[in-house]
Amino acid sequence: MKYKGYSGKILYVDLTKRSVETRRFTEKFCEDYVGGVGFAAKIIADGVQNWQKPLDEGNPLIFMTGPLTGTIIPWSGRHCLAGISPLTGLWGEAYSGGTFARELKQAGYDGIVITGKADKLVYLKVRDDTVIIEDATQFARVDTYEIECLLRKECGEKAKIAAIGIAGENLVRFACVINDGPAGRAAARCGLGAVMGSKNLKAIAVTGSKEVPLYDRERLKQSINAIMPKITNDPEHRLKKDKFIYSLFIDSGRNGVHNWRDAELKGFKEAVLEETEKHVYEGKAYHCAGCRTGCVESHVGTEGRLLHWEAFGPLGSQCGLTDMKHVQKAFEICNRYGIDSISAGGVLSFAMECFEAGLIDLNDMDGIELRFGNGAAMHAMLEKICKREGFGAVLAEGVKGAARHIGKGAEQYAIETKGLEVPAHDPRSHNFLALSYATSNRGACHCDAAEPRLENKPIENPEKFQFAVDGMAEKVVRGQNYAGIINALIICGFSNDSSAQSSSPSDFLGLTAKEVNVWFNLATGMDRDFESLMYSGEKIFNLKHLINLKCGYTPNSDTLHERFISLKRKSGPMANHLPQIKTMISNYYRVRGWEPNGQITTGKLKELGFEESETGF
Ligand code: SF4
Repeated sequence: MKYKGYSGKILYVDLTKRSVETRRFTEKFCEDYVGGVGFAAKIIADGVQNWQKPLDEGNPLIFMTGPLTGTIIPWSGRHCLAGISPLTGLWGEAYSGGTFARELKQAGYDGIVITGKADKLVYLKVRDDTVIIEDATQFARVDTYEIECLLRKECGEKAKIAAIGIAGENLVRFACVINDGPAGRAAARCGLGAVMGSKNLKAIAVTGSKEVPLYDRERLKQSINAIMPKITNDPEHRLKKDKFIYSLFIDSGRNGVHNWRDAELKGFKEAVLEETEKHVYEGKAYHCAGCRTGCVESHVGTEGRLLHWEAFGPLGSQCGLTDMKHVQKAFEICNRYGIDSISAGGVLSFAMECFEAGLIDLNDMDGIELRFGNGAAMHAMLEKICKREGFGAVLAEGVKGAARHIGKGAEQYAIETKGLEVPAHDPRSHNFLALSYATSNRGACHCDAAEPRLENKPIENPEKFQFAVDGMAEKVVRGQNYAGIINALIICGFSNDSSAQSSSPSDFLGLTAKEVNVWFNLATGMDRDFESLMYSGEKIFNLKHLINLKCGYTPNSDTLHERFISLKRKSGPMANHLPQIKTMISNYYRVRGWEPNGQITTGKLKELGFEESETGF
């Protein structure tokens, strides 16, 4: 491998055959697909014919790092998980920080591809070149915090663990994979924990001792030092930043209230800010491997990870809760049992509204009075979901599946896009969010489009184009292509937005796309310019779309739930806005170079350099 930054090897594990093999990849693979999500998408596209349903043995579960992972580059301690989602039946991807990715890279692998199904519960022990499939039956039903400690006893204190909890073992369709135990780093979205469970794979424990090769370590170091600011650990400063972000989200109406039905929840903002203060003074700031700045999302307390925005909203205001003790407990259940807190908040608030509307009664819900604001009922139902007991088994299917089961028009309360529950940013609050949720390959996703900051200037004030329709498709397409690069490298999305970084000084604006480009070249030895990287980002987005076309996607899947299109919020800053989604989507298809039926035009496929064998049409 002439390029540095990569290990050049991917570990392939077939759990049915109990075989392990390392495969090398080519330089062209790196040039075309960069790493991370790009590598994962190509591997899935090549094997998409090998399975019928997402929980079949042939659906690969992929852990992938990027060419910057495990290096001296800040914000690079993240990995990607990919597979076909059991929640949506379409392309699935999820990301997590922590220390697992760095260890995997230092063990000498860019990624792991897992297929097949073990005949009993196993875990994978990776120690550099030694890879063993071990019995894990003694770890059945152990939660994701406890298993960290138990597996370290087996594999050594340096081992980094990614594991499923009881929900993954029980194939809950929104089960996640947690790494770093009580630090609660979650590859949460799309239910890939259920894919891991379907393979009878409880955990992966990795220990690595290799150095990741770099093309020009000295110049890279100089470039990093020239950009990185002096970090402060002053709690007052961190609190100011945390409060700024959370106040901004709540004041701009981002969080949903009562299953996206209402606009405001009295006392919610005060409760969030008070809780944030506790995080800073009583908790501990947690930094993923190589991260110097930390962020508002990463605090750990004595019992594990503390709340962050994607839990405050879905498990808090969505469910009508302002008592943060209840919200924290619900979040801990999600993490320990291993489910996505966004989807968990989505199914709970869906059930609450169905109950309020009389579609289900106490008998249906096993006597649990799941009303808005009832924290104890939430905890009880969450446990039932993870164990697939009683009505919990219905909700374990996600809102779309649960609505099908309940019938009686329950779809009107099942708020999702492509089957994925909606994150904590109301798409009625910004047309950029609305269009990116509607068109993201994985369903409602707030991380799939990121405006590249080309110069060291503040990001354009988003309020300026908040409700614009003209030019929005161009912005979203460019943002999605850039996110493809960020997620191929893989670098943290907070790197370019210093307002979310707790410990960086106020005058630091964050990383620009130019620096990302320079660091990529210095790490790998490639000589790419920004537009050539964006070309790869576009290719990756289109490849994921091709996978979706093979999995049964239709253009009807590119939309928002009716509630976001027709129900105005009654108060708050966006009381009267509804996104003009149809117009924006038709503009989007044109800008993407797609037909109105969602097929990619022959001209676009050619332009992106896809071989006929890759497209399958
Ligand atoms: S900014 Fe937060 S999520 Fe990102 S790498 Fe740092 S600690 Fe991890």
